[in-house]
Amino acid sequence: MTQYTLYPWQEAEWRQLMHDPARLPHALLLTGEPGIGKRRFAERLAAWYLCEHPDKSIAPCGECEGCRWQAAGNHPDFRILAPSDPVEEDAEETKTKRKQPIIGVEDIRDLTDFVNLSAHRQGARVTLVYPAEAMNTAAANAFLKTLEEPPTGAQFILVTHQARRLLPTIRSRCRVLALSTPDTASATTWLEQQGVNDAALHLAHAGGSPLAAQEDAEAEWLPLRNSVLDQIGAPQTLNVLSLAAEIEKAKVDPAKVIEWLQKWTHDLITLGMSGRIRYYPDRTTALNKLAPRASRMLTYVDRLQQAQRLAHHPLNARLVFESLLFDYLAALRGKLTG
Ligand SMILES: [Zn+2]
Repeated sequence: MTQYTLYPWQEAEWRQLMHDPARLPHALLLTGEPGIGKRRFAERLAAWYLCEHPDKSIAPCGECEGCRWQAAGNHPDFRILAPSDPVEEDAEETKTKRKQPIIGVEDIRDLTDFVNLSAHRQGARVTLVYPAEAMNTAAANAFLKTLEEPPTGAQFILVTHQARRLLPTIRSRCRVLALSTPDTASATTWLEQQGVNDAALHLAHAGGSPLAAQEDAEAEWLPLRNSVLDQIGAPQTLNVLSLAAEIEKAKVDPAKVIEWLQKWTHDLITLGMSGRIRYYPDRTTALNKLAPRASRMLTYVDRLQQAQRLAHHPLNARLVFESLLFDYLAALRGKLTG
């Protein structure tokens, strides 16, 4: 098992992509749900391009100089284009700057220099963009120019969780490969092999994505999620102010907490409509009690989506959650207006 070993559900997709390596496109866009291993797939492909073994098969050999450079993380002909970590920014600056991690136009300028230089090792120059939707419009337009006139030997691998957020012109310059989410049975089996207890339950919490389920089983925020779900599952005793304060104190990414509220609301609505629970089968009793009141919660779904879009901006988490929780109670009473 190396850092480039595919997940079992990816083997067939890999073989299909590599059945004629001579015809690989210069730009490949990998799409699919978060938490299914798109990055691993992309990194293996990058490693394969950089492998210098004279008779390389469809897998990187793992032994040549190219492979060793790449495994050590310092191959001179490889670049990852990813959002710079906002945590490292100057504290004074983050107050005014958008906190959402983005790839900006200055990142693309650095990349263009790299792409247009000749390769250090006379092979491919590989760029991995992760996630591609992090490019802002200026960056995407600059990147498009490089995609339109790719220098010889330049290979681009783009990974996206949200292909619809990419410029259509970028999508159309790439060959799109949609990586699939494994079926429940194989995902559960894999999780059990990784030593995850209650694999099926964590898989449900993660909406079917096995890597997200693995994170779900080990996350530090589990106590907070349990507490949030306990409390919103009992709205008659829900103390909005104290729960919002508890959420703020836990310092968990607000986007994560909003996601729990979204999944909870989704379950309430689908349970009311079709009797199905997708995310929280371990909370059937509480969901069943509330589902009859969920028929008028669509406005609340919009409210959560809005909050999710703003979640990476500097914000006062306590106020955001106070407002979302009051809205939740109003929605359950059928009193939330748009
Ligand atoms: Zn190699």
